[in-house]
Amino acid sequence: MKTFSGFVMLAGVLLLLTDDELFSPLRDFALYFVGGGLLLLILTQLLVNRGKNWRCRLGFHDFERQERVAEMPAMRWYRCRRCSKEKRAASIA
Ligand SMILES: [Zn+2]
Repeated sequence: MKTFSGFVMLAGVLLLLTDDELFSPLRDFALYFVGGGLLLLILTQLLVNRGKNWRCRLGFHDFERQERVAEMPAMRWYRCRRCSKEKRAASIA
């Protein structure tokens, strides 16, 4: 679904950029393509992981710094305060 909405947006952008006579009647629809694809993407993001906070579902996690990664001391674990999603990232501190 994510790929599909991305494809719809891409098609819209391509339609906007194209100068081809053949596609000119379609260019009026191009903005609807981009807008529709974006809307679709947000909607699908909100529909999956229903249990999570809406900000987490859109990918805006509230990461909190955790302990260092044992096998890679330059990296640290980060855990989201809301949904406890974990990620690893480089850290100097
Ligand atoms: Zn989260």
